[in-house]
Amino acid sequence: MSRIHIVGAGLSGLAAGIRLAAEGRHVVIYESSGHAGGRCRSFHDSVLDCMIDNGNHLLLSGNRSAQAFLRDVGSEDTLTGPPDAAFPFVDLTTDERWTVRLNAGRFPWWIFQPDSRPPGSSAREFLSILKLACARPEATIGELFGNAGPIFTRFMAPLAVAALNTPVDTAAARPLWAVFKETFGQGGAACRPLIARDGLSRSFVDPALSRLSSLGAEIRFNRRLKQAAVFNSMVTRLEFGDDGVDVAADDTVVLALPPAGLKAVLPMISVPEASHAIVNAHFKLPASLPTASDSPILGIIGGVAEWVFVRGQVVSVTVSAADRLADNDASEIRDMIWRDVAQALRLPYGPPPSRIVKERRATFAQTPEAMLLRPATKTAFANLYLAGDWTDTGLPATIEGAIRSGQKAAAAILSA
Ligand SMILES: Cc1cc2nc3c(=O)[nH]c(=O)nc-3n(C[C@H](O)[C@H](O)[C@H](O)COP(=O)(O)OP(=O)(O)OC[C@H]3O[C@@H](n4cnc5c(N)ncnc54)[C@H](O)[C@@H]3O)c2cc1C
Repeated sequence: MSRIHIVGAGLSGLAAGIRLAAEGRHVVIYESSGHAGGRCRSFHDSVLDCMIDNGNHLLLSGNRSAQAFLRDVGSEDTLTGPPDAAFPFVDLTTDERWTVRLNAGRFPWWIFQPDSRPPGSSAREFLSILKLACARPEATIGELFGNAGPIFTRFMAPLAVAALNTPVDTAAARPLWAVFKETFGQGGAACRPLIARDGLSRSFVDPALSRLSSLGAEIRFNRRLKQAAVFNSMVTRLEFGDDGVDVAADDTVVLALPPAGLKAVLPMISVPEASHAIVNAHFKLPASLPTASDSPILGIIGGVAEWVFVRGQVVSVTVSAADRLADNDASEIRDMIWRDVAQALRLPYGPPPSRIVKERRATFAQTPEAMLLRPATKTAFANLYLAGDWTDTGLPATIEGAIRSGQKAAAAILSA
C-alpha cells in the first residue's frame, strides 16, 4: 500500500494525518522532537509545579476548521469561554473598564449600544472596519486606520496584534479581513472567545495522537528531516540523519514544517524569513481568583501586558510582537508584566512564583511582502504538498490557519 509521509507533528501535520488516515490511507508522521504539538502544546513546569501552555492561545467559536478538528478527535467540549461574545478590557492609563459585547445574530445591533462599545467610540466609527474588505494587498492595518480613534486603539489594534503577531504599522490588512469575515462578520455566535480549559495538549494534541493511533497511523518521534532528495520533479527520499526513507513512486509527502525548517530541507522553495516573538508570563497565585466577570480573558490597554487569561490559580499573560521585550531578562519581564496584572486584577501583592516563556520565532512576520511568499498547498513536485500556518490559507498564522492548511493538504491529496 502506498504511504503518505508527513513531516512535522504540529497541528497542521496532525490535522492532515487525521483526515488522511480516516480515509484509510497509510500515514507515517515524522517529528524532530520527542513530542507532538509544535508551537501549541502544554508542559509540566517545575517552578509552578503544574502544567502550563507554551503560550496562551485564544480561539473564536467561528474557527470552523479548529472546531471540526476538535470534533474529529472527540475533544470539542474542552474549550471554555464566556457564554456570549464578550471581550472585557481595562485601560491602565485611565483605569476605565468596559466590555465589547456582540449580539448573537449577524446584524450588528451591538454597535448602536454605547455600553457594548469601547468608551468614546461611535457606531459610525465602527463601520470603518469595512475598509478592511477592500484593502489592497500592500495595505497595512495601521495605514488603513491611521492608528487613531477609540475603535482602533481600544478594540481593533489589540485584536489585530494578537491575531497577526505583527505590529499594526507593518501588519498586512488582508488576513485580518479573512478573520473578521469568518467570525465578527457572522455575528456574536461565531465570536465567543475560547481557551483550552485544561491546556492545549489536553484539547488538541493528546486526543489527536489517540485518534491517529486508533486509525493505524504511525508517529516516529526524534526524526529530524535533514534533506528531501528530489529527482524528476518528485521527492524520492527523506534523509533523517542516520537513517532515511525511500519515497516510492506512488507515495506522497507532506512537509508540515515552519518556514525555516522547510528552507533547510528544500532550499529552492521561497519562504518568508522574518518572524516575531511572543512572550508569555505565567503566575501562580496564592489562591484561585473569585470570578469577577463572566470571562476568563481580559484585554489590557496602555501596559506591557496585552491579554490576561485566568485559569484557577494560574494567571497567564500574552505579549505579541514582543521582540524587544524578549531581549530583557526573565526577572525584568516578570516585574513589568506583574505591575500591569496587579493593577488590572487589583491584586495588592508582589509577583508570585512565575515562569516566563519566550517564543522567539512564534510566527512569521505577517507583512504585505511576506504574504506574497506564502506557498500554495501543491508544489512543483508532483508528490509533494505543503502545510503549516504560514502557507497560503489567506488566514493569519494561528491554530485555525494551521489546521486549515493541514486539512487543505489532505483534501488535495485525496482528490489527486
Ligand atoms: C506563544 C504563542 C502564542 C500563540 N497564540 C496563538 C493564539 O492565541 N491563537 C492562535 O490561534 N494561534 C496562536 N499561536 C499560533 C499557533 O500556535 C500556530 O499557528 C500553530 O501551532 C502552528 O502549527 P504548525 O503545524 O503550522 O507549525 P508548528 O507547530 O511549528 O509544527 C511544526 C512541527 O514540525 C517539527 N519540525 C520542525 N523541523 C522539523 C524537521 N526538520 N523534521 C521533522 N520535524 C520538524 C516541529 O518540531 C513542530 O512540531 C501562537 C503561537 C505561539 C508560539
